[in-house]
Amino acid sequence: GKPICECNACFNGPDCSEFIPDCVVDADSGDPMFLEPFWLKHSASSAVVVPGWHRMSYEFNDGSLVSEELKMHIRKLHATVGNANTDGRYMIFGAGATQLLNAAVLALSSHDDSSSPSRIVASVPFYPVYKQQTEFFQTEDYKFNGETSRWKDHMDYSSNYIEFVTSPNNPDGQLKKAVLQGPSVKTIHDLAYYWPHFTSIPSPADEDLMIFTLSKLTGHAGSRFGWALIKNEAIYQRMLAYMSLSTYGVPRETQLRVLKLLKVVLEGKGREMFEFGYETMRNRWKKLSKILSISKRFSLQDLEYQNCSFSKTIRGPSPAFAWLKCEKEEDKKCFDVLKTANIIGREGSLFGAESRFVRLSLLQRQDGFDLLLKRMENLVLEENQKG
Ligand code: PMP
Repeated sequence: GKPICECNACFNGPDCSEFIPDCVVDADSGDPMFLEPFWLKHSASSAVVVPGWHRMSYEFNDGSLVSEELKMHIRKLHATVGNANTDGRYMIFGAGATQLLNAAVLALSSHDDSSSPSRIVASVPFYPVYKQQTEFFQTEDYKFNGETSRWKDHMDYSSNYIEFVTSPNNPDGQLKKAVLQGPSVKTIHDLAYYWPHFTSIPSPADEDLMIFTLSKLTGHAGSRFGWALIKNEAIYQRMLAYMSLSTYGVPRETQLRVLKLLKVVLEGKGREMFEFGYETMRNRWKKLSKILSISKRFSLQDLEYQNCSFSKTIRGPSPAFAWLKCEKEEDKKCFDVLKTANIIGREGSLFGAESRFVRLSLLQRQDGFDLLLKRMENLVLEENQKG
């Protein structure tokens, strides 16, 4: 039989045949397991074997900490997908986007003693880590200063601003542009979800500092790999110093694995993985939208059909997350409403939003998603029976 740790959601026992009736559906984590079937299909061609003697050195043969071949493949991938312009940009690797976000904040913040701390801002609803990380690592150089909109018409010109722009946005999937403008504003474009699985690609992103992650591209969140594309050389050097002094670069084994994975992705110009990813996410969104369309109690974010230059079609939405709203006054703690129905989402307040919002992850394995759908369906049925 299958080992217990690999049972499907809500099944248990030595052969995974025992259904756990009141089990909790975990729609909290953004773990991108939906791509697992693609990698099962390409199991042999994506495997890496590393003998004991291989890559022992601190450095590659050319003395650097990064694989030039991997950099080349990443540039090729962006050119193939058309989601980012890599021309004239330096590239940095990090242990996931998580490490690069902090490296970017540090590199962009004011570091002369005379100036006041850079104000770090993000638009609501924002990815909670921006606030958590900035507050945790806070120095004299920078400080989390809340919502972007608070500063839009009241900028304090004696300070520098660093705006996080997440496009498409986590949690609501909207394509976003920077809000603040001017010489004292710097932006970090977090493009973790700017891939054809989750959004149409209207045109290549062409920003000064862009961050991507393997986690949401191939689903290998555990490999801890991300990259930044940086226009300004001084900023690049500071981020490089950060990487060098904190970890001395990304493990060479990780780089080796990523290279192997990207080679598989690039076979047939990425069509197969992105088609699988898009179809999966599109189907999930359609099913959830259909169930909630007859509800007056719950609603979903509005997302538009958009032209996708990668698929050369107008495509319907396929977001990574549902940004669910509880519409009724008595349901203003939306997280609790869902919890009563054994669904664990992520509370809206963590994203700087009202607690009548909850984020539900749509990135889990199929069985987990099916269960989430079933539970949502029951909630809507219950609502309609009550009249
Ligand atoms: N940015 C956004 C918007 C994310 O949603 C995530 C992952 N949930 C990250 C960054 C971090 O990704 P990584 O796994 O590469 O650290």
